[in-house]
Amino acid sequence: MQPRQIQKKLLSWFARHGRDLPWRRTRDPYRIWVSEIMLQQTQVATVVPYYRRWLRRFPSVQSLARANTEAVLKQWEGLGYYRRARNLHAAAREVVRRHGGRLPAERAALLALPGIGRYTAGAILSIAFGRPEPVVDGNVARVLARLFGIRQNVKSARVQRRLWKLAGGLVGVAEGMPSKSEPVFKHVRRSDQKQAWKFVAWRGKEHPGILNQSLMELGATVCTPRRPRCDACPLHTFCVALRRGATARLPNIGRRAPSRLVRQRALLIWRDGRVLIRRRPSDGLLCGFWEFPKRKPGGMQCLNGRRVATVRHSVMSQRIVVEAFDGHWLGGEPPRQGRRSRWRWVRPADLERLPLIVAHRKVLGHAYRSPSAQSSAA
Ligand code: SF4
Repeated sequence: MQPRQIQKKLLSWFARHGRDLPWRRTRDPYRIWVSEIMLQQTQVATVVPYYRRWLRRFPSVQSLARANTEAVLKQWEGLGYYRRARNLHAAAREVVRRHGGRLPAERAALLALPGIGRYTAGAILSIAFGRPEPVVDGNVARVLARLFGIRQNVKSARVQRRLWKLAGGLVGVAEGMPSKSEPVFKHVRRSDQKQAWKFVAWRGKEHPGILNQSLMELGATVCTPRRPRCDACPLHTFCVALRRGATARLPNIGRRAPSRLVRQRALLIWRDGRVLIRRRPSDGLLCGFWEFPKRKPGGMQCLNGRRVATVRHSVMSQRIVVEAFDGHWLGGEPPRQGRRSRWRWVRPADLERLPLIVAHRKVLGHAYRSPSAQSSAA
């Protein structure tokens, strides 16, 4: 199997079938970086509105570096894996401080930034800077494991090394690609060829980014985890898994951890139309987010009301069920810790501006539909 043949088929296919996504219309390293971080563990359809909102709010590295943590978390609210947002924020400050506000084009300098690993560095270098750097994410690993018939667990260090090498071999040949006159798009209708070339934006070394995106795109839209559409795949003539009837068995991803049911409580304590929230501790899971307390804080008197909502939410391997109850403030204040209180009484409208954990955002939606909560809030 020739890397060059695979490359031609992939590019030709991508030119015709690649989705028109907002981050594919730019070469701005900051925008590519934001999109790649958002796309980790998250579907394209979910990311698109977040990406647009994020860029409206933080159009440059500088604007992100200047923002406070609460504003950053608010923009990321609902996207999950919040460490990504915190790292993006910290890295933006680092880029301003150490690189004059420009994302560096060297692998070592990128890897030194918070939240940028081998995959993200490869994506930024190849897509934004046109460097022949490979990328291996879940989609690429699946395509390569099937294409080359790799039966071992793709998460093992040995197979990972092999996948990166294979991806490097594919993207490496992109550097020495022939001139524009070579019929890379010979499968594309003649009338579409101009558009295809435009889309691929062929300019010599910029090619590696397109190749990487076409591999990722193939994994996302054709070589999907379940029921790959091999009849629509540009690589079907090369595919070892297809030839061996092993597409359902590959990639081998080992055993998944079983999901765990976690039950939680939330208490909505109302006082003159305001509800009590607390800021989560500054380290640990969901740090910096606001939430409703699980129980009445010490030193406060309150009358417990009835259950107003039961919501379900999944995070990684946890299935969380939150039961929310109404509470009515009778007296006392929540305890202060240090100079800055972790507690706040807020109107429901204020919660729109604050980063609130998603399960409790759902609780709020349900509670407002309940007459009990409405009368509490009134
Ligand atoms: S032929 Fe099927 S299994 Fe092989 S790479 Fe294409 S979609 Fe994936």
